[in-house]
Amino acid sequence: MNNNSVPLKSLRDPFGRSVTYLRLSVTDRCNYRCNYCMAEDMTFLPRKDLLTLEELQRITAVFIGLGVDKVRITGGEPLVRRDVMSLFEGLSPYVAEGSLKELTLTTNGTLLEKYAHELYANGVRRINVSLDSMDAYTFGEVTRGGDLQTVLTGIETASAAGLAVKINAVALRGINDGELSSMLGWAGERGYDLTLIESMPMGEIGDCRQSHFMSLDEARAVLQKDWTLTASEHTTGGPARYMQVAETGTRVGFITPYSHNFCESCNRVRLTCTGTLYMCLGQDDATDLRQPLRDGASDDQLRDVIVEAITRKPKGHDFDETRLQDGAQVIRFMSTTGG
Ligand code: SAM
Ligand code: SF4
Repeated sequence: MNNNSVPLKSLRDPFGRSVTYLRLSVTDRCNYRCNYCMAEDMTFLPRKDLLTLEELQRITAVFIGLGVDKVRITGGEPLVRRDVMSLFEGLSPYVAEGSLKELTLTTNGTLLEKYAHELYANGVRRINVSLDSMDAYTFGEVTRGGDLQTVLTGIETASAAGLAVKINAVALRGINDGELSSMLGWAGERGYDLTLIESMPMGEIGDCRQSHFMSLDEARAVLQKDWTLTASEHTTGGPARYMQVAETGTRVGFITPYSHNFCESCNRVRLTCTGTLYMCLGQDDATDLRQPLRDGASDDQLRDVIVEAITRKPKGHDFDETRLQDGAQVIRFMSTTGG
């Protein structure tokens, strides 16, 4: 571990943005097949292509040495990766020493009942749980077979273990648009913030995404019929714009990729489970870290590769609402890059 709390180099891109946030996908696999995220018959990567948990930990440590102080573990479903707790355990000393200000997780919640206490013990304090519907039938349809109660139990366990929970829901016309308001009420009663996400054109899934696309301007208007929403300066260092909900004291966030509002302040990069570093969720330029890692690169050499990659971080993505009907604008699935 690098005990020096001053980064050896820091990561600043050509547009002056500091990169301090790493989203780490630990698997492309998932126990769900959410219809906006994956095709029903997904082909997953051969296991030999995946970085080992030790390799993931080593690269993360190199990023921490470069000033990254927030790491989000994601996937696919991160908690289905065998022995994934050893990665949290390996990163927890960085949380304890303060070089990592936040170690967090995005999960579908199915395995929280099993892992919530261990996550807390390893320094995790906040988690995002994806939940697109509070109706058992709709939930089963969206996830293609998921059990709502398992996720609700997982969320309760996480909360009881001391983890702050934020709920993420993709707004889907004709699927959950009629229950966004009651979901906000449900989350608010329990003290959970709710973030709504516009579906993004990632990975080819047929025409489903276009037909269910719902703009968050519309979702906000729906919520404002039942709730008093006022602008909030709150930020979690992520792309969501927040509004305060007067009746619940919680917040509702909006992630609207098409509006470009999250590019100007983008502080993040994404590492896939195969060691490919993407500088932008919505662009294909990438750098491979697995080969140098497996060729025996030193930490210094890995640092150089990362620093060079950051010089290529683009100004923004090219998602375009008017091109939704063209299908995927980014070929890889969100589950490959890590949401
Ligand atoms: N399996 C975990 C989960 O569902 O939270 C973590 C990975 S998932 C890819 C991360 C987030 O990306 C989820 O909140 C999911 O709803 C969102 N997501 C997946 N595909 C998306 C898409 N095409 N557009 C917008 N959000 C998407
Ligand atoms: Fe799995 Fe998450 Fe994608 Fe749903 S959104 S299929 S839970 S990776």
